[in-house]
Amino acid sequence: MTEEKLVEEGSARSLNFLEEIINESIDRGEKRIQTRFPPEPNGYLHIGHAKSICLNFGLAKKYGGKCNLRFDDTNPVKEDVEYVNSIKEDINWLGFQWAEEHYASDYFDQLYDWAIELIKNGKAYVDDQSQEEIRLSRGTVTEPGKESPWRNRSVEENLDLFQRMKAGEFPDGSKVLRAKIDMAHPNMLMRDPIMYRILHTEHHRTGNKWCIYPMYDYAHGQSDSIERITHSICTLEFDVHRPLYDWFIQELGIYPSHQYEFARLNLTYTVMSKRKLLQLVQQGVVMGWDDPRMPTIGALRRKGYTPASVRAFAEKVGVAKRDNVIDLSLLEFCVREDLNKTSERRMAVLNPLKVVITNYEEGKKELFRAVNNPEDETAGTREVPFSRELYIERDDFMENPPKKYFRLQPGGEVRLRYSYLIRCEEVVKDAAGEIVELRCTYDPMSGGGSSSDGRKVKGVIHWVSAADAVEAEVRLFDHLFTKEDPNNVEADKSFLDYLNPDSMVKVTGYLEPSLGGAKPGDRFQFERVGYFCCDKDSKSGHPVFNRTVTLKDSWAKMNK
Ligand code: ATP
Ligand code: MG
Repeated sequence: MTEEKLVEEGSARSLNFLEEIINESIDRGEKRIQTRFPPEPNGYLHIGHAKSICLNFGLAKKYGGKCNLRFDDTNPVKEDVEYVNSIKEDINWLGFQWAEEHYASDYFDQLYDWAIELIKNGKAYVDDQSQEEIRLSRGTVTEPGKESPWRNRSVEENLDLFQRMKAGEFPDGSKVLRAKIDMAHPNMLMRDPIMYRILHTEHHRTGNKWCIYPMYDYAHGQSDSIERITHSICTLEFDVHRPLYDWFIQELGIYPSHQYEFARLNLTYTVMSKRKLLQLVQQGVVMGWDDPRMPTIGALRRKGYTPASVRAFAEKVGVAKRDNVIDLSLLEFCVREDLNKTSERRMAVLNPLKVVITNYEEGKKELFRAVNNPEDETAGTREVPFSRELYIERDDFMENPPKKYFRLQPGGEVRLRYSYLIRCEEVVKDAAGEIVELRCTYDPMSGGGSSSDGRKVKGVIHWVSAADAVEAEVRLFDHLFTKEDPNNVEADKSFLDYLNPDSMVKVTGYLEPSLGGAKPGDRFQFERVGYFCCDKDSKSGHPVFNRTVTLKDSWAKMNK
């Protein structure tokens, strides 16, 4: 898809299938739209979650409804309050506010009572088989499973055993509570699924109150029902869980929430599974969860992404019913488009070549007025100092240029942005033949964009005054992986075998002095270079900048 086409589609698209579903429910008389975002607090949110957040909160907003935040904290082993806080921060940063904040663990009492009810109705039983035995007796897609020898325990015995499971009388793994459905059901998940397991583990919210914990399938639909969720939206892999979701709700006769599935978001050149992301952090491949090369929301924020750009991306990606992989360059396109409108321009030289203006007085300094953002008049102007010694970008000079090279060359003239015309008079080299300095002259009459005799000069380059420049560490990021799909590797390889050794290159940049006061999170366009964001590693006198994105999509072009 071309970028132009995507812009058009974003502005006037037809309804996605979830919007159609919601319209149908409204037609059937649904008065209220209630969604939820249900993260498990066992890791940091990534761009895939951002898609789900934009969808759930976005649909609620569009239909005048509400979206809850519910922490799906039914597995005490991997969960932590650190993640709870980061998840809330990320959702707020994306620009969304939940109607109610809930925790599946707040429903443990209610879920327990409902389990008792199912036991009483003969719909659940305590099984003494090990989880391994249960797994082995489930059968296959073509063969039915085997009924457990404990399947026909009396209601009294089940009630007694389940209460004693809760009271902590049995060790981990010795018993489970299972739903009594059908061991020959064509859907394997319906073959007497496990509802509760014993785990003598402290929970980050309920402490040691519980030593039995509900499984995802037993907790999720009922939590939705308690919150009267009308549209429970989840990713495609849960479509086989839907019959079970419906079964519990029906057997309990509670509010009928419904589940709808959409395709999860996958991105090229990155991994998104929490397990793999954790590996990257633990093995020190990246600087942490918010390393700008990670796909986490925290990383995108640190890299300089705006909330609006992530929302625009989620919108452009749309909602699919089939799994697909989205090109990372689409995400980059979105942030570029937003930053072009919103970020102030500055001059910075990342690969410096010294220029001495031989006819400019030593010690003299002038200030030139520069426009902060040509896309936004209200952004105003600033002053940029000019002096005898400057830095320009090495790429902006060529000793033996091809035709139509309009930047600086021996004997040639170029405009210094906002300032004078200069002419290259002499190229100074070191013993090894490397160019170390250009000696130039300037046209004193050319300051206001004119020249002394009306001659026209095509090339305009950026520059900084050497004496005034602020030195900064500039981190240039590229894809973390060299492989488009690092999840799909040969049998004897791991995704870690495809790390891009140049995914972060650090250079010293020379920035115009106004950037000396930048604070972490401030975003700029370095003119002609790219978009950059001040990093939290900055110290007074030593700013650090992250490249958010290049000005143009060099990767897509290179790979054509
Ligand atoms: P894991 O990586 O361990 O499988 P998860 O991705 O399922 O975890 P959750 O915290 O359970 O993480 O996800 C919260 C919500 O975000 C769920 O509704 C889930 O379907 C959705 N979600 C997760 N990953 C993606 C993705 N790549 N694209 C779209 N939605 C996603
Ligand atoms: Mg999950």
